Amino acid sequence: MSAQPLIHGPAEPAALLLRDVHVLDPRAGHDGPCDVRVGGGRIVEIGTPGSLGKDVGEELIEGRAGLRLLPAFVDPHVHLRTPGQEHKEDLQTGTRAGAAGGFCAVIAMPNTDPVLDSAPLLRSLRDEAAREARISVGFLPAITRGLQGEQLSEMAELRQEGALGFTDDGRPVQSAGMLRKALQYQRLCGGVVALHEEDRTLSLGGSMHEGAISAALGLGGIPTLSESTMVARDAAIAGYEDARVHFQHLSCVASVDAVSASKAHGWRISAEVTPHHLLLTEDDVRGMDTRMKMYPPLATEADRQALLEGLRSGTIDCVASDHAPHARDEKEVPFEQAPMGTTGLETAFAALHTGLVLTGALELGLLVERMTAGASLFDLPTPLIAQGDQANLTLVDLDAEWVAGESGWESRSENCCFAGRRLQGRVLLTVAAGAIVYRERALATVES
Ligand SMILES: [Zn+2]
Ligand SMILES: [Zn+2]
Repeated sequence: MSAQPLIHGPAEPAALLLRDVHVLDPRAGHDGPCDVRVGGGRIVEIGTPGSLGKDVGEELIEGRAGLRLLPAFVDPHVHLRTPGQEHKEDLQTGTRAGAAGGFCAVIAMPNTDPVLDSAPLLRSLRDEAAREARISVGFLPAITRGLQGEQLSEMAELRQEGALGFTDDGRPVQSAGMLRKALQYQRLCGGVVALHEEDRTLSLGGSMHEGAISAALGLGGIPTLSESTMVARDAAIAGYEDARVHFQHLSCVASVDAVSASKAHGWRISAEVTPHHLLLTEDDVRGMDTRMKMYPPLATEADRQALLEGLRSGTIDCVASDHAPHARDEKEVPFEQAPMGTTGLETAFAALHTGLVLTGALELGLLVERMTAGASLFDLPTPLIAQGDQANLTLVDLDAEWVAGESGWESRSENCCFAGRRLQGRVLLTVAAGAIVYRERALATVES
């Protein structure tokens, strides 16, 4: 019997009545005003507006125009930087950032120091999460020891210890033979193999998308081929082995096409896309702001449109932030020398709401679906606004405008590519595993 995969810190169950609030959860069939009672960790009752009375000791939140109660989001790709890089982030600050962004669960990557590639280290991280994590955390340990691409980690043992799957994120599994071997082990022990796709013989020395802008800026370019050829190769290996593979942070037309073709073959493939790849392009790199430097690099408008269409059609299954904190002094260096990555947990919903929903490019209900779909991809329960379910809820104000970063960040790092942008849509309250884990200052409540 393997360990329960999601871990969170101690939390007091909320006692809450949300009255006459617009509930939106396409999976549960909600899109309209309801009363929702939360208690003992669960959604106790859902009734017609005004039908539920406030019990003693309950906090009352009244609905108003612009408010939406959504299932809380799940992020299958974050870097919490612990152990070893706590100057960037740790379990406490990273999960606080997640709570502020409306997430009830995140999945942490293993490119830490030391690399998360052993059962004892996984055990100690899970113990730490049980003390410190504001929201639930799951872990993807490394596919290969030390992310070196040479020897497989102890996959079966790691699964016993609660690993949701495996990834070498931050690096590709460069050897096709090594990946094939990992997928053969996966058949025995289960779990999803998540892949950061990058052919380093093509990307080496590059710091942005290869094209006219990289040439004009005199920066080394990374061709989209670096990603797409690996996606095509690894999809074929997964198809051959009938293995379950998840492609991380897709960034270009050719990768979306490769995933689409693989799914048409019936291969067990899924894929994610980040808010920054959905909203920004190589044009945003012109100012050489190092917060715009990430892998894969921001590509062209045609690539961005293909990612958006892929997300709409379901070729791309979910949104993932790839929240990648770096300290200020690490990012305040010339563009070529800066580490890759942007934070994203605190801005994901607002940025996508502003850039895609308000512009008519994506329905709000579909955005909610794609921001929660990461759960089932990793065999976790999907947050659902349904009577009796564990309470995982996000209350947002779709009318609230704010400037990203204006009042600081919950994350320890501030390298956010959306910093300084005016966004519309704000998380007011997050309930995760039945407890209130985030409350925005502006949220007015009636005291019990
Ligand atoms: Zn990556
Ligand atoms: Zn990553």
